[in-house]
Amino acid sequence: MGRGEMAMTDNRHPDMHCDVCDNSTRVPGYGEQIAVLQAHWGYGARHDGERYRVRMCETCFFMALSYLRQERRIHHLFDDAPQHDDHDFGRIARDDYWADS
Ligand SMILES: [Zn+2]
Repeated sequence: MGRGEMAMTDNRHPDMHCDVCDNSTRVPGYGEQIAVLQAHWGYGARHDGERYRVRMCETCFFMALSYLRQERRIHHLFDDAPQHDDHDFGRIARDDYWADS
């Protein structure tokens, strides 16, 4: 981990920026709102030993999600099963305002 990254994750000054669009991920008056896409590939993976972390603002997160949703649709295009509405693809909770789970 480089010095720059340590400074960015300093909790006393949580002024993080989106890795994609570089906008601040702080919502004025509401604090940090950030999504993290991360992976740590292990033995057997083609990327064994590599770690990834992409921090995204809300806008970029949903852009990424819509890309994945589209990929998912393409993968299932010729399935016999009827296409189900996947507008909530990836969502595992609603009305969860406390992030304690
Ligand atoms: Zn962004």
